[in-house]
Amino acid sequence: MAAPYAGGAAAVVGADAFNELDEYRPFTSAYDFSIVHHPNKGKAVRAKRALASDYDVLIEIPLVCWPLHMFSSAANESQSLSIPWCEQCLKILPDKTADEAGAPLFCSVTCEQQGGQWVKMMQKGALARLRGWQREHGKDSPVTVEAVARCIARVAGTTCQLLPSLRDDGRAAEGDALRAAFSLACRPFERLVAPHTAEVADFDVSSATALLSGELRGAIAEHLSDEELTATLVSSDTVSLLLGQLMLNAQSLTIAAFVPQCEGLCVLKAAGVCVLQSSFNHSCVPNCAVGSLKEDSTLTVTTLREISAGEELCISYIDCSLPLASRQEKLMHYLFVCECPKCLEQRGIQLEGHKAQTSS
Ligand SMILES: [Zn+2]
Ligand SMILES: [Zn+2]
Repeated sequence: MAAPYAGGAAAVVGADAFNELDEYRPFTSAYDFSIVHHPNKGKAVRAKRALASDYDVLIEIPLVCWPLHMFSSAANESQSLSIPWCEQCLKILPDKTADEAGAPLFCSVTCEQQGGQWVKMMQKGALARLRGWQREHGKDSPVTVEAVARCIARVAGTTCQLLPSLRDDGRAAEGDALRAAFSLACRPFERLVAPHTAEVADFDVSSATALLSGELRGAIAEHLSDEELTATLVSSDTVSLLLGQLMLNAQSLTIAAFVPQCEGLCVLKAAGVCVLQSSFNHSCVPNCAVGSLKEDSTLTVTTLREISAGEELCISYIDCSLPLASRQEKLMHYLFVCECPKCLEQRGIQLEGHKAQTSS
């Protein structure tokens, strides 16, 4: 990355400025970082100990991931390829044939079990229709109606999965057990930062809601047997909240495989949301990077240099080689103004230049 800033380490914030967030402790106990409260940024990731360069600080399976576009690395990206993939982990499956009836494919028994939980919350063939709608409505956003559908189906599927154990508790009436299961299923999504306004740029929420309701409502109602929860899950409030959360938290993923029928690499562009990875703040001089080119949706965060104990771990949300103004414009999408050493220095130079101009 930008060599002049190699020494510009992110400032070490005093321990008293940080409070480890208890709710994350069980998830970070196996890792070398903790997730802490940050007075300005809300959340931040802090190294528990000194870390070597090129070290995988985090390996995480996304809460939800979704495919975007497939192409051959040897051809133009606009030339679409269509080779099947696992709908759970997005691994490319050159040896499988897409199911004519639109039944989703999975790479393994584990993926089939996990995928089965959310797939049953959609009408048959829903994924293909959602992708068709997205192509027609042609927005090049990494957040698609399919992404929202997968989130809603995942909450409904997890609710169903948790219900028997809550019922067995014996303490709850059926309705209470269902609501307890639903609230547990929602919890990982509540950890994703949400935008302050309900407005979702670039998305017609009412037509997206109508589509999603058509593809999900019947199956969810059948499995949850609760009209109120079903209505909540497919409401426009839920859809716009999820759209906003996904836009702020989605990480792009690049999945690749050598496929005999494809010149070069077969590449599946995808995106996903991860609870831990989405807690990493942005810096234009990041000390960590999210790994790209994987064989499935598993995401890694790797250190780019040596890191001292207590230092904040940052990744970059954008192309950091862009000039200041373009970086600021791109970061507006994430609803914050970057205060990293590179931005502060460049803004300082700009200010000096402006002063020199106005005084001459
Ligand atoms: Zn799989
Ligand atoms: Zn910056």
